[in-house]
Amino acid sequence: MTPHRPTRHDYIIVGAGISGPFIAHELCRAGADCLMIEAGRHYSRRTYPRNDLDGTAQLYWSGGLELGTDARLVFLRPKVVGGGSVVNQALVDRFDAEAFDSWRRDSGVDFFNEDAMAPWYDAAEAEIAIQTIPGEYRNRNADVFEQGFQRLGYQLAPLRRAQKDCHYEQGNCCIECLNGCRIGSKQSTPETVLKKALERGLELRAETEAVKIDASTKDVWVTCRTADGGTATYRGRNLVLASGAIGNARLLLNSGFGKGLPAVGRNFFCHPQYMNFGVYDQPVRSHLGAFQAFKSDDAGFRKNGFKLENVYAGPAAIALLLSGFGRQHQRAMERLSHFACIEVCTRDTHPGRIKVNRRGKVIIVKEQNREDLERYRRGLAVIDEIFQTTGAKEMIHGKMGIGLHLMGGCGMGTDPARSVVNPGFRLHGHKHIYCADSSMFPNAPGINPSLTIMALSKKAAAQLIKDGNQ
Ligand SMILES: Cc1cc2nc3c(=O)[nH]c(=O)nc-3n(C[C@H](O)[C@H](O)[C@H](O)COP(=O)(O)OP(=O)(O)OC[C@H]3O[C@@H](n4cnc5c(N)ncnc54)[C@H](O)[C@@H]3O)c2cc1C
Repeated sequence: MTPHRPTRHDYIIVGAGISGPFIAHELCRAGADCLMIEAGRHYSRRTYPRNDLDGTAQLYWSGGLELGTDARLVFLRPKVVGGGSVVNQALVDRFDAEAFDSWRRDSGVDFFNEDAMAPWYDAAEAEIAIQTIPGEYRNRNADVFEQGFQRLGYQLAPLRRAQKDCHYEQGNCCIECLNGCRIGSKQSTPETVLKKALERGLELRAETEAVKIDASTKDVWVTCRTADGGTATYRGRNLVLASGAIGNARLLLNSGFGKGLPAVGRNFFCHPQYMNFGVYDQPVRSHLGAFQAFKSDDAGFRKNGFKLENVYAGPAAIALLLSGFGRQHQRAMERLSHFACIEVCTRDTHPGRIKVNRRGKVIIVKEQNREDLERYRRGLAVIDEIFQTTGAKEMIHGKMGIGLHLMGGCGMGTDPARSVVNPGFRLHGHKHIYCADSSMFPNAPGINPSLTIMALSKKAAAQLIKDGNQ
């Protein structure tokens, strides 16, 4: 009897977050046979979790409770078909010259500049609808933010959100879109490019976790843990790593790539973010209506390494950020509808490192050095000023730093000793393994990353198609 040989796919793509579906869409459009492997579940508009407690538990690795080794930062790492695009705030920004200059300096890669990236941003933006929140639908949390900025003479700008039609006139409260948008407005990959890739024949295996890669033969073999507790092995001519900053480093380290690629897992960044609350006499009801209308756009803030956002979160998340216990904590939570919220997001300079222990489990080493903490404090001082000038009776500083923008670990660069991915989106020394997701960021840009991930994935897909034709 002939032993069973798995189908040989043109491409195996690990990770159905943002990068994976953007690349799959282009490859399928070019006629390639693609298999996508995703550890998380495939939800639909109807089945997304209904509250923030279930959302955090079901849509993130380790139920949303991954801590760094010093327990000062918690990392929110999406685990769901659509990845970060399902749970994120959908803010889409292009990088500025400052971000690209620093990337070019650290990587030696020429195309990291605004002109060279402009067509790829255009192509990415053509796949999604982008809107700002109309003035009449801004909520009181946005009013506090705007008033504070105006009174203090800081620059702010409307946020660009990847959304199509939130039907504000029907009274929708967008905060629930952090657990997956149930009206299909948020431009997550399952609503956009993933849907198109599936229509063009992409094979998607959800609840399937890639645990090992073997690239020692002509083909690449990927061994996976399946939902029923079994294992499955898939075979491809090429592999695309799109499992995010922590996912890619973990998979490569567990597959023994760390020996040939010493930079795997290094240069990990996360834009540490801290939510802070102003408590007002009158209700603010930050959870109602349109979600986040403004961002800071102040050259001084950029120079000082932080930005401010007009964010909010569900009650379970906020409860975790408040200090105190028992009655004291309860009293704070009873005033929840009187909270306005401003988040400080720092551009971290001190690199962290992703490691694995002997059992293959992730260890996240991410400390904040003096400069990073100083950036946080500068942002916090501005937030306190804003709350004071708008009449807050009390200020509460969120106790836990949150890592949402997980970046690096497989940085792009020209030097194989200091980087993992070359300027052609291939792993150094591996002709058939590619990567274009958040893990290839050389450092922290200080700007929302997802639009740039989409743009880089578009560029990478064009490169893959070119390589495939040679
Ligand atoms: C709450 C939150 C809010 C955010 N808000 C914004 C925002 O407003 N704007 C912005 O630009 N960015 C935002 N981000 C960040 C942004 O979503 C991420 O930077 C982006 O999703 C990263 O894209 P990616 O393709 O690299 O990885 P991801 O989107 O994280 O996708 C990786 C996928 O790979 C899967 N995976 C991992 N390991 C394996 C494995 N071994 N086998 C199979 N599958 C695997 C994961 O389950 C995941 O679905 C936010 C993130 C969070 C968590």
